[in-house]
Amino acid sequence: MKFVEICECPDIDKILDWLQEKNLLPSMLICQCGKKCERKIREDVVDGRVWRCSCGRRKSIRTNSFFSQFSLSLKIILKLILYLALQMKQIDQAKLLGISRPTIISFQQRLRLIAC
Ligand SMILES: [Zn+2]
Repeated sequence: MKFVEICECPDIDKILDWLQEKNLLPSMLICQCGKKCERKIREDVVDGRVWRCSCGRRKSIRTNSFFSQFSLSLKIILKLILYLALQMKQIDQAKLLGISRPTIISFQQRLRLIAC
């Protein structure tokens, strides 16, 4: 799938698979107990998925990734990156995504800090 298609994809598992394929998210996580974690559904976290170990420990699906410093959902983050690349006006992004302009500005500032 292309980046533009992933930005429109409603299926978080497909998005996560794609990000893992592109090495933007780790494809596996080893728990501190030494076992391999599995990706599990968890509705009360922003992306709806966590790493879960059979010992009961949980970690964010974004652990050890670029995305771990952002609290916005991955779906929103991908759209913000697309809209930034398309040079869409912040006010239009805010309307389309239903988030505030200051949130967009702060996201873009942090993205620039990482990317530069
Ligand atoms: Zn464990």
